[in-house]
Amino acid sequence: MACQKILKKLRITHIALLLAGSLAIPAHAGAQSKSSAATPQSAAARPKLVVLLVVDQMRADYVEKFRSQWTGGLKRLVEEGAWFREAAFSYAATETCVGHATISTGAFPSTHGMIANAWLDRKNQKMVTCTSDPDPNVRNIGYAGLAAKGADTAWRMAVPSFAEELKFQSGGATRIVSFSLKARSAITMAGHKADAATWFDGGAWVTSSTYGTMPFIEEQAKLHPAKADLGKTWSLSLPERAYWYGEKAFGAVPPDGWDLTFPHPLRGKSGAAEADNTFYEQWASSPYADMALTELAEKAVDALKLGNSNGTDFLAVGYSSVDYVGHEFGPRSREIQDILVRLDKDLGGLFAQLDQKVGRGNYVVALSADHGVAPIPEDMQKTGADAGVLHLPELQDRIERALEPFNYPKPAVARITGSDIYFVPGVYDKLQQDHAALQAILDAALAQPGVAAIYRAEELRDRPATESPERRALANSYFPGRSGDLFILPKPYWLMDTAPNGKPRSYGTGHGVPYSYDQHVPVLLMGFGIQPGEYFQSITPADIAPTLAALCGVTLAPRDGRVLSEGLAKRVAASAAIEQGTATTPKSKP
Ligand SMILES: [Zn+2]
Repeated sequence: MACQKILKKLRITHIALLLAGSLAIPAHAGAQSKSSAATPQSAAARPKLVVLLVVDQMRADYVEKFRSQWTGGLKRLVEEGAWFREAAFSYAATETCVGHATISTGAFPSTHGMIANAWLDRKNQKMVTCTSDPDPNVRNIGYAGLAAKGADTAWRMAVPSFAEELKFQSGGATRIVSFSLKARSAITMAGHKADAATWFDGGAWVTSSTYGTMPFIEEQAKLHPAKADLGKTWSLSLPERAYWYGEKAFGAVPPDGWDLTFPHPLRGKSGAAEADNTFYEQWASSPYADMALTELAEKAVDALKLGNSNGTDFLAVGYSSVDYVGHEFGPRSREIQDILVRLDKDLGGLFAQLDQKVGRGNYVVALSADHGVAPIPEDMQKTGADAGVLHLPELQDRIERALEPFNYPKPAVARITGSDIYFVPGVYDKLQQDHAALQAILDAALAQPGVAAIYRAEELRDRPATESPERRALANSYFPGRSGDLFILPKPYWLMDTAPNGKPRSYGTGHGVPYSYDQHVPVLLMGFGIQPGEYFQSITPADIAPTLAALCGVTLAPRDGRVLSEGLAKRVAASAAIEQGTATTPKSKP
């Protein structure tokens, strides 16, 4: 099985290489470039600009449900692009850092090593975030004279991003620019080095010394700081009858200062006159933050003349607000529907600018999401389904109690985070030789409401061949040295929560498990070299980077994704079929 896997990987790389070669043929014309202005650039063999858009927590079904209400960029992606309707992450840890790193590298977490937003660092027995960098020479820098905490880079990401490979292989002509509210999104999309990687923290736009600052971002941070949106209100943008769900999302937990119903004012704590933490929380949970990110992207296109260099530039935007809104109000809310209507408008504006500045057909856009989201458990319970909250502190208590008859340190569990259970050093080594104690733990854990299964690390190593999609998904999330000792598989619709026993949780719902509602996300490609249409093959968002690489004539090292040749414009796809030996008739001359 292992051999087959290696062979498969080699084959994919081989195809990518040959594809890259076939794309070097000049005068390749994709379906989209037919409608483009007949400039010399439109006949280029490469896209002038790659635009990667990742909507944080966008479920695939949002496209199906809400697209009739879209008029801008999301509509254009669906109607003019290649819409992959069966795209799903094939790993368990459906979290932000993991998803962005997978999309940007074309690899699963078992390869790129970004296994979660944060994990227990075994050496120091401390939680670390996926981007925290202990190098004393690295520090974060705030724009517009604002302070920034910490130091964040991609040093924990074990493979280069597509953008880095693009820059490296094209002799440095590529500019890499990325924006998001979250460091773990902006950084993983850009990679280890970038011309600009910018995120938002504590009221400031922030970068790290590893990436350095950019004058146009400084200008924008001063010209339109987030606090300029203080006093604005988020109201419904469509007539009330256009909304699918009632005015109050059942089980929702809105941010401080907001009711369950529209309008949502951005006024901070009890209508404060200055921008406080509550205001920034409200702002991040509103369409105004998406607008600010779009503005930054548009400024980047203008200031750096992205798409007008002699290479292929890379622009990435991670739209984080849908995630905050989804955690608070859940997927069955007017808030989710409305923020997508607004994002659609923002993207329409961005694409119009790119048409003008780069040329329709000269750029390629890939839109996806880092993960989906579960329904709010209390909302789901109304359907009669088995749904609930899996309290992790209770699970920890059960494990400690189960070990009491045996000779183990107390506490024996160092940490439970996400699906990962970490024991204090030495405990798991001992448990592996102590069948009775391990069985006691497994029995105790399985007795807790909401637990479907517990897997041991050795069951996940080496990505085993298994009939169980859940076990395979957990294996695709497993990275030796970083992942836990035991892994919790909750039942579907059971939310893993860390609130202490008896305390209410501070949000409505979450994500991070290997079920369709978290794994199934949109993948939409549009523009240079893309064959518009609807595609129903099962794919993963790890296929995006190899596909972009093929379009740009760039070779990625063996990865977990594949080139989505079915969504490439005819001539490209035909070349791929010939190289794969699947073409039945010889191609006529180009
Ligand atoms: Zn989230």
